[in-house]
Amino acid sequence: SLKSRNALITGSTSGIGLAYAHALAKEGANICLNGFGDDAEIEKTRTGIEKDFGVKCIYNGADMTKPPEIAAMVKDAETRLGSVDILISNAGVQFVSPIEEFPVEKWDQIIAINLSSAFHAIRAAVPGMKARKWGRIINTASAHSLVASPFKAAYVSAKHGIAGLTKTVALEVATFGITANAISPGYVWTPLVEKQIPDTMKARNMTKEQVIHDVLLEAQPTKEFVTSEQVAALAVFLCSDNAAQITGANISIDGGWTAA
Ligand code: NAD
Repeated sequence: SLKSRNALITGSTSGIGLAYAHALAKEGANICLNGFGDDAEIEKTRTGIEKDFGVKCIYNGADMTKPPEIAAMVKDAETRLGSVDILISNAGVQFVSPIEEFPVEKWDQIIAINLSSAFHAIRAAVPGMKARKWGRIINTASAHSLVASPFKAAYVSAKHGIAGLTKTVALEVATFGITANAISPGYVWTPLVEKQIPDTMKARNMTKEQVIHDVLLEAQPTKEFVTSEQVAALAVFLCSDNAAQITGANISIDGGWTAA
């Protein structure tokens, strides 16, 4: 059980992040949500978690492109929840384009959200974890932390960076009861995947069905999408005492994608 643990999850108003929030709350952890979205919708999610799981759930709307807001978010969670014992850096965006047309501001945005925000959050949360001699740092990486796909220069670069950051942090905190791991999903059916279909249709001159079957599931030998719940269950395990010796790992959950 994760009762009395406090978890901060970036990008948890949607998709995989929201699944992490539900799964950790189900184990009894208090939650700090983060991410964009409709205010009323977010408030419904927040109160729903409190009601359904009997935990405390707060929300901080920090923008993951803004380092001072990220540091302030960690402080806010420490103040309102009492600590940040579990930090999941999960916020992420995608942009698909041939590199010679890749918008420079999209490169900067993706590196900021998908890579640098994890650095800023970890940097702010580690002192508290070290002082309490317990912590779980989890970064949502991707199969794209291990292999590349064309037209995803920024995303693949950021995710490979996340893999390196995870290993480095794991070494630094190893004697403090803190683990740091990356989870690398293949394609999970979430708004992020749905939203990139039109651009992939354009970039590859394909229909929606062709993109789903010939691009997305082409990479996945099981020919099935991973579910957010499966990814969240792995995170719950990484937070358990049985996972205390798993650190610096990059764990694939990708239907066999990176085995090929
Ligand atoms: P999603 O679009 O459903 O959720 C992304 C979350 O990040 C949302 O809560 C959004 O509000 C938040 N976010 C975006 N920009 C932000 C910003 N500037 N500041 C704060 N929050 C911001 O996407 P998802 O598929 O659930 O993706 C979550 C993570 O999983 C990402 O890091 C993504 O790269 C990774 N991932 C997804 C898949 C997949 O197939 N869906 C596969 C591998 C890895």
